[in-house]
Amino acid sequence: MQMSEFYFEPLYKNMIRSVLEYAIPIYHEEGSKTKDFDKIQNKGLRIAMGYRTTTPINVMHAKAGLMRIQQRVELLAERYNIRQIAGKKSEENINLLENRIFKREERFKEEWDDYTFTNAILTEEGKIKQRNNSINDHTLMNIIREKLRIKENKPTIIFIDGSKAEEGRANEIGIITKENDCWKEEGISIDNRMSIYTTEAIALSKSMEKAKQEYPNKAVIILSDSESVIKAITKGFPKKGENSWIIKIMKQPKNCCKRRQNNREGGHRLGIAWIPAHMGIEGNERADRIAKEKTRNDHYIEFKIPEEDLIRNAEEEAWKRSRNKNKEEGTHKGIKYLNSGVSNNNKKTPWFTTVSSLERKSIVTLSRIRVNHYNLNESLERKNLVNSAECECGHGVQDIDHVIWQCPMNEEQRRILENQLEHRGIDRGVPVMDILKANQPANLRLIAAFINKLGRTI
Ligand SMILES: [Zn+2]
Repeated sequence: MQMSEFYFEPLYKNMIRSVLEYAIPIYHEEGSKTKDFDKIQNKGLRIAMGYRTTTPINVMHAKAGLMRIQQRVELLAERYNIRQIAGKKSEENINLLENRIFKREERFKEEWDDYTFTNAILTEEGKIKQRNNSINDHTLMNIIREKLRIKENKPTIIFIDGSKAEEGRANEIGIITKENDCWKEEGISIDNRMSIYTTEAIALSKSMEKAKQEYPNKAVIILSDSESVIKAITKGFPKKGENSWIIKIMKQPKNCCKRRQNNREGGHRLGIAWIPAHMGIEGNERADRIAKEKTRNDHYIEFKIPEEDLIRNAEEEAWKRSRNKNKEEGTHKGIKYLNSGVSNNNKKTPWFTTVSSLERKSIVTLSRIRVNHYNLNESLERKNLVNSAECECGHGVQDIDHVIWQCPMNEEQRRILENQLEHRGIDRGVPVMDILKANQPANLRLIAAFINKLGRTI
């Protein structure tokens, strides 16, 4: 029985790689063991994907969307360390790895005043504005104020927004305060390992602190356009594995509402609400602008990075190193492939996961063509496996374009293929590599069917 390629990835990861990885933090220290693992992974890949022995290892890894073993080992070791520290939080562990992983934790330094009661809402009116902008800003603000039970007529409004950094930059937070029609703008840069969710949660946490410290005797409304953060804090209890910053925010109202029964008649002091982004709400636009400014590294604050962000970040970094290794090797091996548009080197899954219903035989053939190591004379001759690149028909170069578009031996099949491809807007003679690059499943199936009918293994 032939095993479908679609089973290769889970089979390898669950049955083989998991065994290799057992106790890997210890092997990792030893160093040399990973070379043996490399050999096992390479061999497995070659068999499963049906690659010729001349196909370079970097190319196979890119095609299969598999992380290189060395980087995988580093990642597991790092993940182990993160879990140890974040999970146990023993003084010793923290001291040990503080410089690498742990950052100073910002805390609410004092208790809230007795008149504060925090509530968070996601209004239907905000949703309507997001859909068709039929509610004006002023009306929306009044609705929010009423629903938050804030009695003060002109509360201080704090608009917040966060943005995830591009490569090599810090994440940015914009905090915009509107008090008596006066605007104040503040930007904060934070560690770029934070997810956007964490960044938005820190923006909220930070603005709550601001409300408490800078406006102790005023009503304050904080407005965020992060639906996921506002939704999370409106729930009664944090969900399992919730972000530590969200948990911290959710604890706040409970800390401060000892006398809230008495204060309800006088209204609440602090409220949080969601507003839609990109709807021209002035404070939101200002916050968005500050959060997207690229030059603001003057005000950098270190906050505690949640465990899940550290792990996701370690994974991304390991993938980057693994891809770079493929590329570095690509400077002398598999250059043509890694620079072609079909390299798959930025993916984490095999190239064929988007093309279901192709049988293994076709996937193997297309894989070989894509990496330019296939069983036609032009490719075989390059590796000295045959003496001549000539086609049986007498043409000087037998490559995939010749076989599909020119070779007189395949006239009959070609007429059918041309007809079918024409219907799909592809002209005669388009380089086969271009068709493969475009990765249109229907076109790939047509090419595979053509090769199948030739009755030869390519
Ligand atoms: Zn020919």
